[in-house]
Amino acid sequence: MLLDLDGLAVAKVERLTDGTRRVHLTTADEAARACPSCGVFAVRVKGFVQTRPRDLPYGERKLELVWRKRRWYCTEPTCPRRTFTERVRQVPAGARITTRLRWRPGGGCATRVPRSSRRPGTCACPGPR
Ligand SMILES: [Zn+2]
Repeated sequence: MLLDLDGLAVAKVERLTDGTRRVHLTTADEAARACPSCGVFAVRVKGFVQTRPRDLPYGERKLELVWRKRRWYCTEPTCPRRTFTERVRQVPAGARITTRLRWRPGGGCATRVPRSSRRPGTCACPGPR
């Protein structure tokens, strides 16, 4: 697995003109289909949504993640939740960045420091290392 993001699979990789790699992800974890309220596996797809989780910098070039995830109907009659979108452990629902990046020691500073001012082994973010 290229990116080591549990539950996601790479559908294809595009290379943009500026050298950025755009990685299209699909859900590979069957458990993502389970309704978060009642746990019943959904069978009816409502549609698709695209999300762009931000991951750790990967190599020299920028990496853009595009995850096309499904929105499901929960058909369980007693379940209060009508629809839900897929989620996997590394990218919780509503998260803008991946869990891995958020919990990185040093606190995601790589996202705030411009690439030009970043050097290996240095970190501009305040707080404990
Ligand atoms: Zn449900």
